Amino acid sequence: MSMSKIKKRFVAGAKCPKCGAQDSILLFKLNGIETVECTDCDYTAQQVDEQAKQQSSGSLIGVFKPE
Ligand SMILES: [Zn+2]
Repeated sequence: MSMSKIKKRFVAGAKCPKCGAQDSILLFKLNGIETVECTDCDYTAQQVDEQAKQQSSGSLIGVFKPE
């Protein structure tokens, strides 16, 4: 398994909350989770999408209670 093919792109105008550097934030998907990373320091954060959460729990819909 190669992890080197993850596409990373800069987020225009984004500011690192840790070191305050501008245009240093990279956005990429790690295991389907949107992840941001600063190139100037070791800051990383993962954004769990609310819609993705709902979709992952969607399998519970379809459980019917018999009368
Ligand atoms: Zn930073």
